[in-house]
Amino acid sequence: MAEPLLRVQSLRLDIADHERSRSILLDVNFDVRPNEVMGLVGESGSGKTLTALTIMRLLPPAASVSEGRIELGGRDLLRLTESEMRQVRGSKVAMIFQNPRAALNPLMRAGDQVARALLLHRELSRAEARRQAVELLRHAGISDAESRARAYPHQLSGGMAQRVLIAMMLACRPDLLIADEPTTGLDVTIQAQIFELIKKLQAETGASLLLITHDLGVVSEVCQRVAVMYAGQIMEQAPVAELFHHPSHPYTERLLGSILRVDQAAELDPSRAIAFASIDYDNPGCRFANRCPYVLEACWVRRPVPRRLAEDHIVYCHLRNEGAS
Ligand code: SF4
Repeated sequence: MAEPLLRVQSLRLDIADHERSRSILLDVNFDVRPNEVMGLVGESGSGKTLTALTIMRLLPPAASVSEGRIELGGRDLLRLTESEMRQVRGSKVAMIFQNPRAALNPLMRAGDQVARALLLHRELSRAEARRQAVELLRHAGISDAESRARAYPHQLSGGMAQRVLIAMMLACRPDLLIADEPTTGLDVTIQAQIFELIKKLQAETGASLLLITHDLGVVSEVCQRVAVMYAGQIMEQAPVAELFHHPSHPYTERLLGSILRVDQAAELDPSRAIAFASIDYDNPGCRFANRCPYVLEACWVRRPVPRRLAEDHIVYCHLRNEGAS
């Protein structure tokens, strides 16, 4: 098996809130292999975006990493100086954000933003950077790239703005691309086009992709492996087909059970729904305990140790450990 490109180990992220600090991410472990599309899936508030921002080291001031390692190509990103990390951002890892218009500079033309990304990472004349920027916009699926390059972000549709961000990412040729809900707010046709584009460019460049989404349908179409996250903890990870056919964590089972299929709409079973409850960050055990129908005493006391069910299939649940009672 290839050495992982990205390895997140025992990651713990604390956020200070008035007088107390909470571990919003706790014991997060997963990896992304070379040329792989890995999914990170979970509902809103599960910690997916915070995990991505921690990898990029773009955290808000109140957040701090108190434990763990984030290795990219063998270097621990958490130990790099800010100036070393600036070099890594863009050239080694790049991120596509949820709201592309907000991620673009509103005062700069689209083509100039792509050209600037090129100039930051390659030795080019301004004229050559400008020419290549138009080429990259075209490669990102923007028709009439010459004139679109002269547009400001507010003159672009959401889908077009996302294509500009993707062109900027291509300019940097990163080893790892993180796409955080890249189609939020776009209409369904455009969503499909953006996913197709991301998949195509990932295959062309050989980069690895960490795709963050709440949409299991997208995971099934785009990813090879997936990690399921809830309340800042990884619950289960497996190859996509294995997870869909043999979910082993109660949260994964419920998440899969909650996908609405048109042919089953009349047969939805309310007992399979995930009960509503606020996230219990103070539980030292499993954070899904206050929503889990199978909760055990141990679930309130200690975090389940990871259990390997198959080579790539790991689950964190006391039910799957020997002697569960
Ligand atoms: Fe449910 Fe306990 Fe398993 Fe968590 S560890 S999913 S609470 S049985």
